[in-house]
Amino acid sequence: MKETDILIIGAGPVGLFTVFEAGLLGLECELVDNLDKIGGQCIELYPDKPIYDIPGVANQTGREHIDALLAQIKPFNYKVNLNTRVESIKKEKDKWIVKTNNDLSFLTKNIFIAAGAGSFESRRPPVENPDKFLGNGIEYAVRDIKKYKDKEITIFGGGDSALDWSVELAKTAKKVYLVHRRDEFRGAKHTESQMRELVKSGKIELKIPYVIKSINGDEKFNGVDLMHFESKEIESINCDEALFFFGLNKQLGPILDWEVELEEKKISVNTENFQTNKEGIFAVGDINTYPGKLDLILCGFHETTLAVQEAFKRIHPGERVPFGYTTSNKGLQEKLKVNKS
Ligand SMILES: Cc1cc2nc3c(=O)[nH]c(=O)nc-3n(C[C@H](O)[C@H](O)[C@H](O)COP(=O)(O)OP(=O)(O)OC[C@H]3O[C@@H](n4cnc5c(N)ncnc54)[C@H](O)[C@@H]3O)c2cc1C
Repeated sequence: MKETDILIIGAGPVGLFTVFEAGLLGLECELVDNLDKIGGQCIELYPDKPIYDIPGVANQTGREHIDALLAQIKPFNYKVNLNTRVESIKKEKDKWIVKTNNDLSFLTKNIFIAAGAGSFESRRPPVENPDKFLGNGIEYAVRDIKKYKDKEITIFGGGDSALDWSVELAKTAKKVYLVHRRDEFRGAKHTESQMRELVKSGKIELKIPYVIKSINGDEKFNGVDLMHFESKEIESINCDEALFFFGLNKQLGPILDWEVELEEKKISVNTENFQTNKEGIFAVGDINTYPGKLDLILCGFHETTLAVQEAFKRIHPGERVPFGYTTSNKGLQEKLKVNKS
């Protein structure tokens, strides 16, 4: 079992900034996120959109914002556990035991729930047993681009992910089929143009208007059946891999079972230290609620700054929480190699 000062559930912007505030007080963190990447909503939902209300930053895309947070926490000790969903938490004397879906266990005095709107789960295709060949022909995200080299791939969806990956995988795949139910895409226009160019050159075959009818194979994945959206005719595609990009569902999931006080699917906290009704369990960022709450990144930063103070007191009872301006933190300047007098 791994022991840590703070176990942070959620590696979105607020979870990442928690690492910074904890680091300033000499506390170590473990981050857990059920996505395959760091960055929460900023990366999963709007990586290329500019954010204009981060204090002191005129504008920054979602991706640039997460990159900046990662640069900011570089000097500190923390570990990120991706593709890992926290399933259960249990009290053990004055500590908590946290268990995940992939059999990791953490022992900690402080749990920070920075879980945003809950865990993102890929929407499944509307067929029987969609996950039967998960990892063996079926995926909801590209986890290893090399796997698709020289393969025939069927990609489903009409948004950014479907377009981006069709264009990207067409570079190395033997063939890409892109299946969508209408001849309109919701993704970036320039990526759509790139995709249409690849259709002209024969690297991508557009299947429009089609929907998934079935995923085929008994022992082994054996391609997919498509149904024409209007004529209802069936067409089989004998491909090696299928990727479904039908968007994400946000689910509170296991958080509902942790017996923290909820108000309309958000976690109630006090605004002195953002602790929940359970000692040692804090909720920061979009997941919490209190009078006047706004779902903004900067509000989450404020919340977690105060919560970390309380976490320090729980680890070092009776000690004064050290306070110092970062402008006079020579160690930090040294580690970040900042050279401003
Ligand atoms: C299109 C769009 C534009 C936006 N623009 C702005 C803007 O301009 N300015 C602004 O301030 N805000 C903006 N927001 C809101 C902002 O993105 C959120 O306030 C912010 O992402 C909240 O950060 P967070 O860290 O609390 O949660 P999130 O970013 O939601 O991250 C939470 C993470 O927790 C993980 N998680 C959840 N449950 C579990 C579990 N059980 N186990 C493991 N991991 C779990 C999730 O996978 C996720 O990665 C925008 C939001 C959207 C959708």
